Amino acid sequence: MLIAMAQLFGKKGAKMPVLLVEQNHEASDYPDVVEFLQPVKIEGTLTNEDEIFVLEAKCATEIALECSRCLAPVKQKICFELKERFAHTGIEDEETQTFSGDQIDLTVSVRRGIIEELPMRVLCHEDCKGLCPACGNNLNTGDCGCDTTERDPRFAGLLGLFDENEEV
Ligand SMILES: [Zn+2]
Ligand SMILES: [Zn+2]
Repeated sequence: MLIAMAQLFGKKGAKMPVLLVEQNHEASDYPDVVEFLQPVKIEGTLTNEDEIFVLEAKCATEIALECSRCLAPVKQKICFELKERFAHTGIEDEETQTFSGDQIDLTVSVRRGIIEELPMRVLCHEDCKGLCPACGNNLNTGDCGCDTTERDPRFAGLLGLFDENEEV
């Protein structure tokens, strides 16, 4: 994701609009992301602040993650602010990335930003029933009939009643 910014060199205070749209962003670079459902879009401005080039932009996309319980795809919008400083070599400053030539590469910044936005866990819906521990069936789509009941002695009598009713 490159910004060609030669027009800003030597022009202190000059700004240029930035609009980058990357189709088919590679999901395999990210943990837990199944696929990118929308292009990665970066929109903002790049400003020459005394030959330090400051990007202020908004990054947005939409991804599919796996439900933490049943592994079904879950859509998730991603939107965050990107604020980055870039300069040619010679700047001793942890917050400033160096670049050479007349193109600034946002690949690393965007990737880091997206990873920070990824939720720890997602659910397809709040009361997702998950997968059957015995056969792997998605319990949201119906009961597979496996007996996975952990018998609690306090309810044993009650369960007995239900079993009898079902058999009638
Ligand atoms: Zn689920
Ligand atoms: Zn099952």
